[in-house]
Amino acid sequence: MITGANFIGSTASKEGEMILTAFNPADLTSFPEQFYAADMDEIQAATQLAADAFATYKSTTPTQRANFLETIADEIIALGDELVKRTCQESGLPEGRIMGERGRTCNQLRSFASLLKEGSWVNAIIDTAQPDRTPVPKPDLRKMQVPIGPVVVFGASNFPLAFSTAGGDTASELAAGNPVIVKGHESHLGTNELVSRAILKAAEKTGMPDGVFSMVNGGVEVGQALVKDPDVMAVGFTGSLKAGKALTKAANERDIPIPVYAEMGSVNPVVILPEKLATDTNSLAKQIAVSVTLGVGQFCTNPGLLISIDSKSLEQFAQALSQALELTAPGVMLNKGIAENYRENRRRRISNQAVTSTSEVGEEKDNEGQALLATVSAADFMFKSHLHEEVFGPFALLVKCQNATELLGVISMLEGQLTGTVMATESDLKDHAPAIEALQSKVGRILLNGVPTGVEVCAAMHHGGPFPATSDAKFTSVGTDAIYRFTRPICYQNWPHNALPAALQNGNSLGIWRLVNGERTKS
Ligand code: NAP
Repeated sequence: MITGANFIGSTASKEGEMILTAFNPADLTSFPEQFYAADMDEIQAATQLAADAFATYKSTTPTQRANFLETIADEIIALGDELVKRTCQESGLPEGRIMGERGRTCNQLRSFASLLKEGSWVNAIIDTAQPDRTPVPKPDLRKMQVPIGPVVVFGASNFPLAFSTAGGDTASELAAGNPVIVKGHESHLGTNELVSRAILKAAEKTGMPDGVFSMVNGGVEVGQALVKDPDVMAVGFTGSLKAGKALTKAANERDIPIPVYAEMGSVNPVVILPEKLATDTNSLAKQIAVSVTLGVGQFCTNPGLLISIDSKSLEQFAQALSQALELTAPGVMLNKGIAENYRENRRRRISNQAVTSTSEVGEEKDNEGQALLATVSAADFMFKSHLHEEVFGPFALLVKCQNATELLGVISMLEGQLTGTVMATESDLKDHAPAIEALQSKVGRILLNGVPTGVEVCAAMHHGGPFPATSDAKFTSVGTDAIYRFTRPICYQNWPHNALPAALQNGNSLGIWRLVNGERTKS
């Protein structure tokens, strides 16, 4: 049942005076429930309880935490049709997508559980003492990753399950041993409450301390208060560049600054090289059209920028891509605000004198967005930096270069990106090696002859990239390495064997991989 409450640990709370309403973006109707924005006392109570819970939760065994994560996945599945229906209604996303996203959410939780059970993720490094070393003896040094304390997660509008209440950020933080406080996204308030209840039920079933998970609703003030709260030790965020920068600023202005792991805007350039373009003109257009329009373009990996060298093949490609986009009906966007932003940003982009739209936009309702392709010369693109910005939605800008030198110039001027894609034959790769190298320096993931949408969740994935794609290019928010955003190393010097954490004791009772005196070993 959806009640509109916040959860201060396991306690439902409705003390705030501000009421939020959930909407169905498909028909723009509102849901009957009243959701209570948290007031400052509730926020403080949630962070205090999380700090108290940390004392116990950080000492839980990896097996206990794995059991907690697996039980959350089970409880999400147990919500059954109620969750799927509500998520579809609040996001405008079709059932197939939400079923897939629910599966991904549970798989993420389970993959962190497996990581904990295997145990080597703590990166245990042991350098044993050399008391006889001259001129100075070497001490016994042992290092591993440990949790950092309560973390705040901002639910993302474009992934109501996989990057929200029990999404990748929450899963990685809980796995690391940190309590979590979620600020639900206003776009899916009911979904957020259902999933919060599933997490709390799992916490109770597996004996986790009260306060290991809290959830508060609210607007910008609530978000700011959470980031500034002294009990909060880090933030996980997915959303706009503007909000990501505002949160990072607030975090840096604290007496004790904390990291904000923000995944923000990206235009995910696709560089289409000449021989590949001439060989596969129409199939490339089809492939890119599907990627641009997938989920009405509301993916952080949406290919919003296409870069190529002008030719007859490029004209044919642009025509085929335009046709494919025109044939794709306008789609319902995640909320009315995002649809309005999309249409306004698209209008601004094509009202620029240097930009020409090459496809037509049909009739769109208030909550919809239709795909559009526009073109610009490399010279204009290079000197108008606002054309480099993301238009969140199914929009792509094709940059036409005169030659390979211009192509390299355009790539060299790009900002940091989550992904970069190269469409190329083997000889293209040889002929354009400097351009590919330049692209590599701008991105977190570089693809060959594929599309950037569809992010595999696995250990080798890197979903991050230089600013402004993310606030810290060293970390990923997808895949099990995401755990390292919420841990820190600690080094023990000259501690007796039995006073050390199990991961660093001589006997290796956990049977994990460790680096012992420079050698990777389980012994
Ligand atoms: P958003 O505006 O960045 O908001 C995300 C979350 O941050 C919301 O909970 C929001 O609260 C909060 N927030 C915003 N500004 C804040 C501030 N100054 N201080 C504290 N908290 C703040 O993202 P959105 O609502 O999901 O969508 C808006 C736009 O973001 C989209 O049109 C799109 O351009 C971009 N976006 C990009 C991606 C991506 O992956 N690149 C993903 C999603 C969205 P409120 O809801 O109360 O404002």
